[in-house]
Parts: sequence; structure tokens; C-alpha cells
Amino acid sequence: MCSGGLTRMEFDHLSKYQEDLWLCARCGDCSLADKTVASDRDVYMPCAVKNVLGFEAYSCRGRIMVMNDLIEGKIEPSEDLVDWAFTCTTCKSCQETCTATADGIRLPEMTEALRQDLVEQGFDMEKHHIIEDSIVSKGNPYKEARNERLDVFGDREFPEKADVVYFVGCTSAYREKEIARTTVELLDRAGVDFTILQDEKCCGSVLLRLGRIDAFDELTTANIEAIKETGASKVITSCAGCYRTWKVDAVENGYEYPFEILHITEFLDQLIQDEQISFESPEEITITYHDPCHLGRHAEVYEAPRRVIQAVDNVNLVEMETNKRYAHCCGSGGGVKGSFGDLANDVAGDRIEEAERTGAQTLVTACPFCHRGLVDGADYNKSDMVVTDLPTFLLPYLKGEKGKKAEEEDPLKKQFMEYLREHPMIFDGLKKDAVIDYEIEGDRFHVRLVDKGEIEVNPRRAENPDVELMFSEDAVEELFTKESEDEYAARFGEFFKDPTDEKWIKFNLRRNIVKLLMKGYRKFAQKAGLI
Ligand code: SF4
Ligand code: SF4
Repeated sequence: MCSGGLTRMEFDHLSKYQEDLWLCARCGDCSLADKTVASDRDVYMPCAVKNVLGFEAYSCRGRIMVMNDLIEGKIEPSEDLVDWAFTCTTCKSCQETCTATADGIRLPEMTEALRQDLVEQGFDMEKHHIIEDSIVSKGNPYKEARNERLDVFGDREFPEKADVVYFVGCTSAYREKEIARTTVELLDRAGVDFTILQDEKCCGSVLLRLGRIDAFDELTTANIEAIKETGASKVITSCAGCYRTWKVDAVENGYEYPFEILHITEFLDQLIQDEQISFESPEEITITYHDPCHLGRHAEVYEAPRRVIQAVDNVNLVEMETNKRYAHCCGSGGGVKGSFGDLANDVAGDRIEEAERTGAQTLVTACPFCHRGLVDGADYNKSDMVVTDLPTFLLPYLKGEKGKKAEEEDPLKKQFMEYLREHPMIFDGLKKDAVIDYEIEGDRFHVRLVDKGEIEVNPRRAENPDVELMFSEDAVEELFTKESEDEYAARFGEFFKDPTDEKWIKFNLRRNIVKLLMKGYRKFAQKAGLI
């Protein structure tokens, strides 16, 4: 897993934090804090990684003790130690809890410094080499072709000059494409004069977190020059990692740039306050919000996303037990998701359980890394929690002429939702609170059984549809006249199994059938003769 020879290590970068190593009082608040030690802080066992792995060595206090022993030469780097060094998500939760200094012991910075020392002396992980090589040669960590970066936006063209640059980021461009697409659609529909960079390069966040900072200069310089050429005064990101890198790390590394950096949540907050946009949900919906560590603790943006969520009429925001400064981590940061996927899933699973305890059906976050991690965590836990990113969550609720037009453009989805609202008995077989996510003609919505005979139909885009449906017009016309569940199910089954040219239904399962059956879909499927 690691390369490098066993020579006496120099710790040039970590040694700069020697004072912190000594100032740590070894009190253990960073792993065990509860209301009794910090009564003004609703904080419980701050280190999400230690909570999963159990051993003290994974907590801040343990890490500091190991770092001390390394510097003093009492222990030497090994393959296991390199793995240990890369299991910290650098979430900063321990630092927020620590009261040893005014700012707390700076464990995330120390971890990155230690990683830099390890990497410079050849002790590192092979997969991190691959990531770095990909960033240097292709401008992204995913080994994706540069000329395919804009494919996510289809035929949409972007001007050379604009007031605002949307800095897409690699994860949204290549992995979490829905976030990139919905951000652009949201900006378009809000009437923002914006563009994106034709040759955007990785922001370098991954390099900094993994201690491989050599290529950071080249990336940042190239991106600053490219943004300057657009003449933009504002740069917005929908990725919390890009945001922190621009707003905090680039500045700390001495970069100056003639534009303002805003996270999409801050930008939308401004537009809402300036009364340029507004949002409304047609039904009451309760959601909870996960603070991305890069956006929250590392950049102190806590209120803007909450103001945006609360600005949506009919949306009720409930907080998790740990939130804002003390929010538990999603487990994906600091390179942990790519290197230790099971650990990331366990941490995300804990966060999903915390979200479930709020009673919300939807967990909104504001970062593609958190989004991916939490979606995987929900799957891992076999949870029905819907996980979505803020722009994706908001888009269907945008009010105004453009919003109305979009509704009109999609009559089938609207008609189907109306029919379901009027015939909630179709879902009586579902388990209480079960959610079925639909995709119809490329658009999505979800249905939740609130109680027998009572459903919530939500037009927002479900992230992970369970089923994809396509109907012929005649099938729709006939199906939507059925008044009982039995009749509806029977005709549904016929149109699917015995289609004619005029009346047909196609549906593709987009998720595991077992998961769907566990939600209570069995009754309907049996009535329709599908199983
Ligand atoms: S890092 Fe801070 S909270 Fe943790 S043991 Fe040291 S002094 Fe206590
Ligand atoms: S930064 Fe986060 S993951 Fe790392 S030791 Fe501190 S609390 Fe644990």
C-alpha cells in the first residue's frame, strides 16, 4: 500500500506545530465531549472516525500522541502508520471542541503537515500517486478526459465574458453531474449573467488534503488567469471543497485575486434578500441540513444555507442533534472516501441515523462529496432517507414566470402527480413513511405514504429514482380514469405485459427490487400481476 524506505524521518512540516503538540492537555474532550463538559454546545463524541473505529489512536488526542512519538523518533513510519495518517477526514470537529487554546488544537492542519512529510519522504499510498498524476495530466482527479468536462451541460453554450463565473469543480462535472446541471439551470432561470471556464482545472483541494501540494501552484495560477479573462467580479462554487480551497487555502498560500468567492448558498441567499428570486413548495415538507465540514467549520458558512432553506415557503427545517460548528462529519473528506470506502460508509451511516432521528424525510447538504457519501450511507444503512444537494432540492420550487413555464412544459408529470394525490389508496400497500421515487420522461418526483389513505407527493427531483416510467398517451388517458386501486393496478399490469401500439407502459427498475419490496411495493406488484 505504501512505498518508501525506513530511514530516520524528518518532520519539517509537522514540527511547525510542536507547540500544539505540547499544549494538548490530553483531556480527551475531542473524542468524548458531551453536554457536561460543554454545556453550551450540543456536542457528542465529536470524532466521527473514532466513533466508528473505536480506538483512541484515531481520535485527536491519540493522533497527537502518535505524532509526538514520531517526531521524537520513538516510533517509525510503517505501512500501517501511513494508513492511519490518511484515516482522518480533517473535519475539524475535534478542534471546535478543544479548549486548550483559543482556537483549539489545530489537528487538521497538523494532519495535512504530517501527510506532506510522509509524502515528501516516500511514505504514501499508491492510489494517491494516481490521483495526483491525473490532476497534473488531465486537470481532474478522476482520470477523465478534459474535453468531456462540458458534456454534462449538453448543448448549452457559455459566453466568454460575464459578471459571474460558476466554478464547477471536478466532482460535479464528472461524478455528481446532477449538481452541476441543476446549478446551471437554477442560475439560468434566476436570470444570472454567468459563464463557466472552458478550461477549468481542479481547484487543488485533493492535493492539499493528501499532502501533495507541489502541483497546487500551477493549478491555482492557471485558474486565476482564466477567471480574470472573463472579467467576472464573482466566482461561485457548488462544491464546499472548491469553496474552502479558494476562500481559505489559496489566500493562506499567498494568492490574491480580483474577484469575490461565494458558495452557491451565499449567492442564492443574496438573490433572495434582494428579492430577485423566491421559492415555494406546494406541500409542507420537513427537511434537515447537513453542514459540509469544508463549508461550515473550515469556512464558517452556517447561516446562508439555512436562510435559503427557510426562505422556501412550506419547508420546515429541523436540526440534527449535532449541527453547525459541532456537526458530525459525513466521512468523505480528507481523502477518506477514496482510500477507505467502508470507513466512509460507516461514518455516513451514523450521520444518516442522526438525520432519521429528526423525523425529516429529506436530508439536504451543499457539497458533492457530502452528497455522494451520504447517498452511499443511506444505501449502506438500507435507509429510505432521501439525500439531496441544495441546488437540486431548490430548483423545482423556484417561483416566477420561468418556474411556471417549466411546470407547463411537463404536463404528464403534473397530471400524474395530480392523479396520485386524488387517489392515495394506490399506495395503501406501502409501509408507513416509505418513499417511492419516480422518474417520468426524465423528470422526477416522490411519493411518501404518510398514513393509510394519505400521501405526500413532492415534485422535487428525487435523487435516486426507484422506477422509471413511460406511458403512451392513450394508456395515460385510460389509466387516470380508474377510481380504485384494484382497477388501476390491473390495467397497469395489462398495459405493461400486453402492450398495444396505442396503449402501453414501460417501466424500468432503477433500484434493487428487494429494496422496493421492502417498502411495501409487493401488494401493488401482485395486484398488477408483475410478480
Ligand atoms: S486536543 Fe484539545 S480536547 Fe483533545 S485532548 Fe488535547 S487538549 Fe483535550
Ligand atoms: S479532524 Fe475530524 S476525523 Fe480527524 S481527528 Fe479530528 S474529529 Fe476526528
